[in-house]
This record gives sequence, C-alpha cells and structure tokens, in this order.
Amino acid sequence: TEACLAAIEGAGALNAFVHHTPQIAMDAAAAADARIAGGDAPAMCGLPIGIKDLFCTRGVPSQAGSRILEGFLPEYESTVSQKLADAGAVMLGKLNMDEFAMGSSNETSVYGNAVNPWRRGNDDAALTPGGSSGGSAAAVAADLCLAATGTDTGGSIRQPAAFTGTVGIKPTYGRCSRWGVVAFASSLDQAGPMTKSVRDAAIMLEAMAGFDPKDSTSAERAVPDFEAAMTGDIRGKTIGIPREYRMDGMPDEIEALWQDGIAMMKDAGAKIVDISLPHTKYALPAYYVIAPAEASSNLARYDGVRYGHRAKLHQGDGITEMYEKTRAEGFGPEVQRRVMIGTYVLSAGFYDAYYNRARKVRTLIKRDFEQVFDQGIDAILTPATPSAAFGLGEMTDADPVAMYLNDVFTVTVNLAGLPGISVPAGLDKQGLPLGLQLIGRPWEEADLLSSAYALE
Ligand code: GLN
Repeated sequence: TEACLAAIEGAGALNAFVHHTPQIAMDAAAAADARIAGGDAPAMCGLPIGIKDLFCTRGVPSQAGSRILEGFLPEYESTVSQKLADAGAVMLGKLNMDEFAMGSSNETSVYGNAVNPWRRGNDDAALTPGGSSGGSAAAVAADLCLAATGTDTGGSIRQPAAFTGTVGIKPTYGRCSRWGVVAFASSLDQAGPMTKSVRDAAIMLEAMAGFDPKDSTSAERAVPDFEAAMTGDIRGKTIGIPREYRMDGMPDEIEALWQDGIAMMKDAGAKIVDISLPHTKYALPAYYVIAPAEASSNLARYDGVRYGHRAKLHQGDGITEMYEKTRAEGFGPEVQRRVMIGTYVLSAGFYDAYYNRARKVRTLIKRDFEQVFDQGIDAILTPATPSAAFGLGEMTDADPVAMYLNDVFTVTVNLAGLPGISVPAGLDKQGLPLGLQLIGRPWEEADLLSSAYALE
C-alpha cells in the first residue's frame, strides 16, 4: 500500500487517480495486517486497488467524472466496493473516467483526461488509455495499484484494457450488483475487474460478484470458484470465429493479431469453427439509441435539488431556470448530446420508430448468439478494438460517430448480456498493446476465464 501511494504521488501526469484516500488506505492496510496475523486472511487481504469514480464510496467524493456531482459525498457504499473491502482489498482512491461513463477516450471527464502510460515508439505524444474506465486502465498498467474496478456499458472495461495491455472482464449482466454504481444505461451496465493477469481477474471477480437484493436485476446464482476452475485446458473446446467481425478497412495488424490468436487456440487443442452473427451490423446503431434513451431517463435525477452542483440563480429565476442552468453548467457536451438523443428517441411519435425498433434489433442480436451457442460453440474469439490506442485529441476533433466506432466489437456483448473478456495479445508495429476478446455463454465466466488463460 505504501509503495502504491508513493507511485500515485509520482504519477500525477497520468491523471489516473482523481480522489486520493491515503488515510483510508493505511487504515485498511493495518486492518488487513491484523487479519493476516490472526490467520483470517480473505482472498484479497491487503491488496491495494483503485475504484472507478462511478462507484459510490461512503464519505469519499464520487463524481462519476461530472461537474454536476461536485461536492457529493455518498452516505452509502456500493455493493461491489463493499464486497471488495470485505474481501480485504485496500482502496487507494477513486479513478478517472469519462463523464457518466460516456466515451471511449476518457476525454469527457471533468477532471481532464487520464493518460496512457504507453507511447508510440520514440514519440512522446500522449495517448488515450481508452474509456470510459481510462483511469482504471492507466493506473493498473502503470503499477499505481494491483487492480481496479471498471464498468462496461458498451465496452468501457474491455477497450481500455486492450489499449493498456491489461486484462478486463465484463461479466454476464446480473452477475455483479449495480447498487451504488451511478447508472448510465441500466439494462447494459455491469461492473467488472481490470487487472494485470487473467488469474487476478478471476480472483477479483469472485470477490465482486453475487446476488444482491438491493439490485432487482442481480441474479440469484451461486458464484463459482473462478480461480480453481481456471485450468487453461481448452482441448476439445469449440471456438467460433464470426465472419461479420471482419470489418471493411480493418487494419492488417488487427487481422494478423486475430489470426495469431486463432492459431494459438488451435495449437492448444481447440476446434476452430467459422460462425455467423448476421445482425452484428445493426449493433452500434441499436446501442446508440438504447444507451442514450436509458441515460436520459437516469440523468433526470440531477436537477440541482438532490445532489451536488446547483447553478447560481438571479432574482426572478424560478425552478425551471434552476433546472436549466444547473444542467447546462453541470453536464458536459457529450452528456448533453446523449440526453438530447435519448429524449428524442423516447418521445411520443418517435418512440416506435427508434426506441422500440432498437429493442427489437437487440433481441435479434441476442438470438444470433443463442443460436451459435446452441450449435455447440463454447466461446467466440474476436479482436477487442479496431485499432491500438489513439492520440489525445485525435478523435475528439472528428465527428462523434468516429469515436462511437471504437465500440464496434464490444457493444454486441452488452446488448446480449453476455460475459466478455479482453486479453493482451501482442504489440502493434509502433509497440502499442492490442487485445483479443473472448465472448462466453451466459453465466459461464469460469469457462471463459479458463479459455482466456490459455490465450494469455
Ligand atoms: N464508449 C461507449 C459509450 O460511450 C461505451 C461506454 C461504456 O461502456 N460505459 O457509450
């Protein structure tokens, strides 16, 4: 814990930790020492970790990367961060992220972007760690903590993991409680671990997962011993390669990385089968209707009355002006864009044409996966991202849709509620990390982690 606190102190330029809690950390570390001395050390006893700013942490700023939650000190602890503390983990502080987890580069954060510790060859230009869990990824990659929590609504654990050479798993929807996690798109959001290895991810996921009566979508399912199940033996497993993920204009090195992953799994004894997920091409448009629709509804609670920031008012301003000014000041441009898209697609007259249609597409995407799993596919192998980490500012100047395209390989998994993991799989020509994604059957994280272990 002391070494991590010192490393954080020296790594201000990465802007990964946005709220530091050294005293809480030292107290928790001392408590962990006592548990170890007493012979009662749980799985993560004394392990220093970071918590994404999206998780409410009692008495510690929890701003979700937004100005609108300035000064908000939760009275309660999220279930996931509580479970980690119960497992002995030591919280070092809160990690940078895109505002309300909307983004793929950490550049929509009110704290300014986190920076990727990796560089392109000898070029000093700062790169994005990805998003929205960019602070988590940068902190783990730069050894500021041993592991971190992330959340993934459309790729926010897996894409930053791929950009920083770390491991990130989005569990099956319902596996980890969403209670106390600031909601972005409730039917898609899942918490998960971001770690240095697949084994660490298994250990941490086990600590985070489990039924929680406080989250009505949390599943009443036993949490297996993920670490014990992780043999890395994939002999006889059937791995599907979806042809629709071979996108036009995909860089050669991503294709080469994918081929290497296929060869590696084959050598390890897996059977490789070409599969089709025909509705893949509709996933991004469906996601960018459903996610903003749910976000616009979830974000209605930030009204200047209940939480955080309230705009200064002038004589004669009524409650409507208070709402308007507070929300105009408190939300950044990307969040405002999503609220506008969301309210539009939910509005009377457009609801059927956009929101309901997107929900139907979502069902078709889910069925695509069900069909291949019914045919005996154990896991699906794809690239995690269409490119390596890009430069800060490189995408923000472009059309917002260019940024959305980053999620092309990851959003299907959230729409279908499946578990997906990103595993470091090599470096590109400029020496930047790239990731491969494995998608598993629902509730089969143990199996997925085991296959990912073989690929690691
Ligand atoms: N980049 C996607 C978005 O902006 C996904 C974000 C996430 O998974 N939280 O919506």
